[in-house]
Amino acid sequence: MQYKGKGFLFDCGEGIQRQIMKAGFNIYSLDYIFISHLHTDHILGLPGLIETLDIYDKSNIKIFSPDGIEEFLKCFFFDQFYTPEIKIEIKSLETKDTPFSVIDNSEFSVVGISLNHIIECTGFSFIEKPKRKFVKEKIEELKLKTEDFINLRKKGYIKRDGKIVTEEEITEEIKGFKFTYIPDTYKTDNIIKLAKDSDILVIECTYLDEEEKAGKYGHLTLDYIIEITPELNCKKIVLTHFSRRYKNLEKFMKKIRKSGLKNIVLGEDFMIFDF
Ligand SMILES: [Zn+2]
Ligand SMILES: [Zn+2]
Repeated sequence: MQYKGKGFLFDCGEGIQRQIMKAGFNIYSLDYIFISHLHTDHILGLPGLIETLDIYDKSNIKIFSPDGIEEFLKCFFFDQFYTPEIKIEIKSLETKDTPFSVIDNSEFSVVGISLNHIIECTGFSFIEKPKRKFVKEKIEELKLKTEDFINLRKKGYIKRDGKIVTEEEITEEIKGFKFTYIPDTYKTDNIIKLAKDSDILVIECTYLDEEEKAGKYGHLTLDYIIEITPELNCKKIVLTHFSRRYKNLEKFMKKIRKSGLKNIVLGEDFMIFDF
């Protein structure tokens, strides 16, 4: 994900560098890497990616991950072999059944929640802070000029006919963009707790309807995702992480069509969603 020139990567599977380049993103702009869990299909791309960032003289990279990622990286980066100069800041994630803060600043926050996989696994939401937008009718009513806007920004108010007009009176709060990533997990209420009201939700959908397998290996079925879709209230739900046992995804497509839900799409490489 790219936001105001910063790059956010959610999990780091094999071949990630090629895919980032093919997608036309600048690897150098990558600032944050969020690792959901330590299964190889989610972390194998990490050593190569760090090495590339190091070669590009990137000064630092922040990695948020469950415990163990440091030991994994030490297998690749050690004194006699290769020690990257890039500063790798690793922050260990909590395990919690309520959303917990991962990053929080004036522009956005990232929160995490524990999921229900066969090993410790975390889902993430990126939440843009609410913004204030001028209400058109009020601006026209007060006939605001450029200098008024400058004063409003500086002081938070202007004077009109002897009365004080504050910024709050003529602006409204607009909800920020919300992106949620739900990787490997079996059913859990924590999915809804984290993903509710997202603009875009990327969610694993390993199986079609094989409930038993889903429970055994800690994954979701399309049936379950369809069941919780109304409660999720997300604008767009992008399915990913399909089991390799399906030669094609026709049955998935049929099931989605039959459900009548218009906001679920099958994820493909290089899909782009603007926000
Ligand atoms: Zn996994
Ligand atoms: Zn996986």
